[in-house]
Amino acid sequence: MHELSLVQALSALVDAECAERGARAKAVRIAVGELASVEPSLLVLAWEDAAPQHGTLTVDFCAARQTCATCGDVADRQPGSWLRLCPTCGSPLRVSGGDELELVEIDFEEDPVRC
Ligand SMILES: [Zn+2]
Repeated sequence: MHELSLVQALSALVDAECAERGARAKAVRIAVGELASVEPSLLVLAWEDAAPQHGTLTVDFCAARQTCATCGDVADRQPGSWLRLCPTCGSPLRVSGGDELELVEIDFEEDPVRC
């Protein structure tokens, strides 16, 4: 299961941070992009199953942006849908962002630490 192996890798990262600080994590925040092929709800379930010692997992879902060279941002894309061409002028669209898969913040029992 893809999500479980991610959680195990993430948990190992958090373990290392905790060991370095001699502190316990109480909450972990990650960013997951729309194009990262990860289902945030499955990730949270896997986390609760495999890494409960690190507290809660919060997933920031990052949508990808589709932009047209002529018209700029395509604003009317529905969540989860994907456009092949610009709805206004029919040009091919450029994609940016949405491939995030990273640790954003670990909240230790004392102060939060930015990664
Ligand atoms: Zn356009």
